[in-house]
Amino acid sequence: MKLYAQVIIDTPVLDILDYRVRDRQLVSVGDRVEVPLGTRKVIGVVVGMQTYSLLRNKRLRKITSVLKNMSPLSSRWLALTRFAARYYVKTWGSSALSALPAFLKRKNTALQDKRWLRYIQKKEQKVTVQVLQSPTLNREQERAYQAVKDYVGFQSFVLFGVTGSGKTEVYLRWIQNKLQEDPDVQILLLVPEINLTPQLLQRIQDRFPAEKVVSLHSELSDMERAYAWWETHEGKIRVLVSTRMGIFTSFKKLGLIIVDEEHDSSYKAGDGLFYSARDLAIWRAKQWNIPVVLGSATPSLETWAQVQRGHYRLLRLKHRAVHGASLPRLQLVDMQNQYRIFHRHTLQEMQVTLRNGKQVLVFLNRRGYSPVLSCPSCGWVYRCPHCSVRMVYHKSEKRMICHHCGHTASIVRACPKCGDMDILPRGFGTERVEEVLEQYFAEYTVARIDRDSVSTKKKFEQLIQKVHHNEIQILIGTQMLAKGHDFQNIGLVVVLNADAQLKSASTRAREHLFATLMQVAGRAGRSGQQGLVMVQTNYPEDYLFQALREQKYEDFANDTLQQRHNNMMPPYVYQALICAKAPTIALSLNFLEEVVSLAQKIDGTSVRVYDPVPMHIVRVNNMERAQLLVEADTRARLNKLLQYLHRTVKTWNGVLWSIEVDPFDI
Ligand code: ADP
Ligand code: ZN
Ligand code: ZN
Repeated sequence: MKLYAQVIIDTPVLDILDYRVRDRQLVSVGDRVEVPLGTRKVIGVVVGMQTYSLLRNKRLRKITSVLKNMSPLSSRWLALTRFAARYYVKTWGSSALSALPAFLKRKNTALQDKRWLRYIQKKEQKVTVQVLQSPTLNREQERAYQAVKDYVGFQSFVLFGVTGSGKTEVYLRWIQNKLQEDPDVQILLLVPEINLTPQLLQRIQDRFPAEKVVSLHSELSDMERAYAWWETHEGKIRVLVSTRMGIFTSFKKLGLIIVDEEHDSSYKAGDGLFYSARDLAIWRAKQWNIPVVLGSATPSLETWAQVQRGHYRLLRLKHRAVHGASLPRLQLVDMQNQYRIFHRHTLQEMQVTLRNGKQVLVFLNRRGYSPVLSCPSCGWVYRCPHCSVRMVYHKSEKRMICHHCGHTASIVRACPKCGDMDILPRGFGTERVEEVLEQYFAEYTVARIDRDSVSTKKKFEQLIQKVHHNEIQILIGTQMLAKGHDFQNIGLVVVLNADAQLKSASTRAREHLFATLMQVAGRAGRSGQQGLVMVQTNYPEDYLFQALREQKYEDFANDTLQQRHNNMMPPYVYQALICAKAPTIALSLNFLEEVVSLAQKIDGTSVRVYDPVPMHIVRVNNMERAQLLVEADTRARLNKLLQYLHRTVKTWNGVLWSIEVDPFDI
């Protein structure tokens, strides 16, 4: 009997291809296979087996080989990748193959097999771990714990609690409970990009000394990543801690999913499939019929809306877990539109804090020395030749760096336009603030933490250790500093330039700012005395700050959601962005105009198709970019239109285009 395999491969258009199975070739659904495609050989995944093919037998080619270094992918995993493909409007093949680690997409050669075996054997050696006692849960924690512990079936829970309220402790307890209940069950803990520090992993590993806790993130080598994936797939590990990519791991028996800091933007992929790991986590929990927990001090508005609708169950932790730790006070420092880095009051408070033996953390989300280098006489500004942005002055590197394409150039001493020698850096980034702080507080040690100063994870950890040992008294840093680190001795947090985000035009800027400020504030007063957070702003009366001051995220979320509702914005409508890039903006816009006319042909009423517009930063890396917003009242309508466009739109003149469903920022 002849056998035919249906195979998905990574292509933008074709979906499922039929191949002939050779006599005595062992192939099953879920196997990775090597197949011929045109003149090439590519790796695909078998999604079906049949005894017939609609195509005439002669035209069908044969499967070259079957990759044997892993048991077949499960039907659940195939269903996940198919769902993701439909939802995010890609082919099944591209969704499935991008979910597999590179190593598992390579044809096995004898050499590779040997390496793989060696790796697996080496890794099988047990690690020694120390056992830590777990604290007794407080009443709020206990209530949250119980609600999920005995839950049978699918349900989304939201664990809503400020930093330090003991969310992680409750996660650990849930994990512990699951592990004890069922010897085969697996747990997925998703964490934001930046949170995957050895600190957290260690905390988990310490708690479960008998279990192998494995992490999956982008800094792993090909082999390490494949190994973690494979172990999870084969059911060899029971706790997987991962950044967003982990949502596509194949599990043998998933029992619980936890998404820590669920509002974090790193859960959203910025290219390719543009998926949201948080949203897929909910889909997967439903697929496995298990609970999923979304943890945050500032749940995303999408999540909050589901709580309001009664779809997600809310679990609250209102207080800080450590005895004596209280929430920090917020003080707004009115800058009155004056240009200076630190207000007098801020400096005084810093002085007091340092004298009391406490540490100061200064937060500024802008790297470099100054964002602008310009000529005061003729107005010339140093711009990136490849992007429509200014080059950022990096003093210690003695370079100008473009933060969008990475282009670097030398510093000029005189204005290239008028020859003026008084070229000036304007504005400030972390590097300049560091310099200023060193001048003001010469007797203390200042350290800067951003992508430039800490290039490796190891350096980062070393600096963090120094902070723990009080070898550093003043820290200046970006987003990198805001999250997850359990500093014990920070007495004061100073926030610079929050106004940039406060007054930004993008939809989510304000909720991101709220989340960031809550997180930054969470660094202060984690033990003992109450901490203080000073925010320098020109808009001290802004509602956001008032809500922040009273720690009323709920009010802020309700209010913001109401505005979204009034303005017919997500989550009350469904959106997608179609982006095009080409050597000229005219090409990009023309292309999108064609997309518009196609879209109107198919559905002119239930879907709103807006005008194509150039993107805020038009040119990046010599490509000029435009975007088109499409919107519908139901997800089904939106998806139908996008599927149609995906099938129909033909690209021309080197225009690159993409569809982003549920765009983050518009
Ligand atoms: P979150 O994840 O909400 O920021 P954590 O779980 O990290 O909070 O808890 C913050 C601190 O409080 C940690 O040092 C943790 O060990 C401690 N902690 C958590 N729960 C308790 C508890 N029930 N009793 C004592 N300490 C606790
Ligand atoms: Zn000039
Ligand atoms: Zn550039």
